[in-house]
Amino acid sequence: MELSITRAGELKPHPADSELSFGTIFTDHMFNMDYDPEKGWHDPRIEPYGPFILSPACMVLHYGQAIFEGLKAFRTADGRIQLFRPRKNLARLNESARRLCIPEIDEEFALQCLKQLVSIDRDWVPSARGTSLYIRPFIIATDPYIGLRSSHTYRFSIILSPVGAYYPEGFDPVKIWITDKYVRAVRGGVGHVKTAGNYAASLYATEEAHKEGYTQVLWLDGVELKYVEEVGSMNIFFVMDGELVTPMLNGSILPGITRDSVIHLARSWGVTVTERRIGIEEVFESHRNGKLSEVFGAGTAAVISPVGTIKFKDREITIGDGSAGPVSRRLFNALTDIQYGKDRGPDGWIEPVA
Ligand SMILES: *Cc1c(COP(=O)(O)O)cnc(C)c1O
Repeated sequence: MELSITRAGELKPHPADSELSFGTIFTDHMFNMDYDPEKGWHDPRIEPYGPFILSPACMVLHYGQAIFEGLKAFRTADGRIQLFRPRKNLARLNESARRLCIPEIDEEFALQCLKQLVSIDRDWVPSARGTSLYIRPFIIATDPYIGLRSSHTYRFSIILSPVGAYYPEGFDPVKIWITDKYVRAVRGGVGHVKTAGNYAASLYATEEAHKEGYTQVLWLDGVELKYVEEVGSMNIFFVMDGELVTPMLNGSILPGITRDSVIHLARSWGVTVTERRIGIEEVFESHRNGKLSEVFGAGTAAVISPVGTIKFKDREITIGDGSAGPVSRRLFNALTDIQYGKDRGPDGWIEPVA
């Protein structure tokens, strides 16, 4: 397949690095490619960023057949641009595609298109530490059809957004709220893939958390409401008794690439990492016994997000002295040093953009 490129006639002004927030500004170009049963995936093209024209009957609008990914391009101190483990994101996009009955894409071809897009909009990659170019690949069902079946046609797009820190608090610990009323995902469901409906389903509890003064919801398992799953759009880690513990992937937890990277780095430092079921009562118990020294979230947007406070029913605990602990800091520094090109990192983690 030949990637066609149409350059934008007029380029938008760039915001200053210091003014970047998250996900509000988009670059000059986007990638689009379409699918139909006769041609398969076809017409891959980079073109000026702009709106879609869709039928009001477009299936994604009614039945939510939509999947997405999130990754970042970073600018190194000497001005190069690099991606962090992008093949993992494209492999996961295909996992999501299979679960949502969406035709798979050619991962290697998609990576070449993605790199070409970032390269064309390279001036949009900010350089201040903590800033990056967020990359959002997504696929939507486009049949104009009312009636439940999987769509026959799809659009795969990639858009780019220069971003600052995900949380306005920066690396300061967040307050999380546990709900025992709402669940995010269930065994056999779609919690392990990045599909739009998961996030729509999480909004109500998240708004309740905000009203109570908390930043994020910590989800418990959807069956017994006893075991910790994940927090917001991050995987969760506990430092208990000097070991790093995280919920095992059980089919309802999103297999985060940051999660995988944290596990890999911690093990390479000789830290014991255990993936297992973690009861919420165990978390409170180990806090009571003084064994719980750190809690943090891990995800592309925030990288590492220390948790300062956990609230469950009428109990609230403060983790450590309420500030970011040494393991969170070490992981954050190690990951961002790799992402910003200060360290090489394990083989295959960094993909340069020409
Ligand atoms: C994307 C996401 C994560 C984190 O995955 P990364 O690959 O590390 O960005 C965790 N949980 C949910 C629900 C997510 O959507």
